[in-house]
Amino acid sequence: MKRLLAILSVALFPAIAQAGEAFPSRPVTIVVPFAAGGPTDTVARNLAVAMAKTLKQQVIVENVGGAGGTIGANKVAKARPDGHTVLLYHIGMSTAPALYRKLPFNPLTDFAYIGEVADVPMTLIGKKAFPPNNFKDFVAYVKQNSKKLNYGNAGLGAASHLCGLLLMSTLETSVQTVPFQGTAPAIAALLGGEIDFMCDQTTNTTGQIQAGAVKVYGVTSAKRVASLPNVPTLQEQGLKNFEVNVWHALYAPKGTPKAAADALNAALRAAMADSAYTNALNKLGASAATAERQTPDGLQQHLKSEIDRWGPIIKKAGVYAD
Ligand code: ASP
Repeated sequence: MKRLLAILSVALFPAIAQAGEAFPSRPVTIVVPFAAGGPTDTVARNLAVAMAKTLKQQVIVENVGGAGGTIGANKVAKARPDGHTVLLYHIGMSTAPALYRKLPFNPLTDFAYIGEVADVPMTLIGKKAFPPNNFKDFVAYVKQNSKKLNYGNAGLGAASHLCGLLLMSTLETSVQTVPFQGTAPAIAALLGGEIDFMCDQTTNTTGQIQAGAVKVYGVTSAKRVASLPNVPTLQEQGLKNFEVNVWHALYAPKGTPKAAADALNAALRAAMADSAYTNALNKLGASAATAERQTPDGLQQHLKSEIDRWGPIIKKAGVYAD
């Protein structure tokens, strides 16, 4: 009997240890569903450093690009729900359901919500050799040469894609758009002169604008960005309702134990209060999410309202992927 008990306890021990396992018991991986070196990646890498301080574990960033972020998001939706694999995705989480007819995950049922991390405005930039020098000339030039030009995007539903679509429909013109796995490779193509212009988050473009490596035509937020004080908004330049702000949030797979989700949220909120994190964001024109949206409920409400907002807009635009 004693022997049997000993064998049983040895056999049961690993399971017991796992159930009561402290979180995190190993490095946490943040999946970024876009290429390395781009804007989402920049937010994630700064966040990883800040969250590691609270979690007392390494936080690693893994880039899984493609299909506007939906490949990486699907990977996390199907990951082991133990809190060690999380997703940093942006506004694309709310547009994917309307854009992808065969979306392999459901943003409303397949994730545990951790909280929002950053709001990032976009800029409209052109390659250095692009002839227009200001937004007024940009509009005239693009309309006149629409058939000869192209602009970059990070896949259907990426912020760069949505911003480009919105711009084209506002200007009542149409220009060919070229997809990349993220805006890091897209901006490399712009710097190499292979594409003419693009919208991209300030987290990716601020350095290039400050260095004079690209031309800038405006920012997409309602107010000017502190890090680029001389760049006017597109609203100031006549596009009355034009506004694109890219919100970013952290998700874990559905079924993640509450203790792990709580620990991730606490680390997220500590990052938002960490000046090293917020200063790094501010320098790149981004800002930390509001306190309300740093909570799982705040994120869930916002995601729902964004899905409701984008659905009809996308339907009307007739854009989708099979
Ligand atoms: N955030 C970019 C976009 O949506 C993609 C990226 O991070 O590379 O356009």
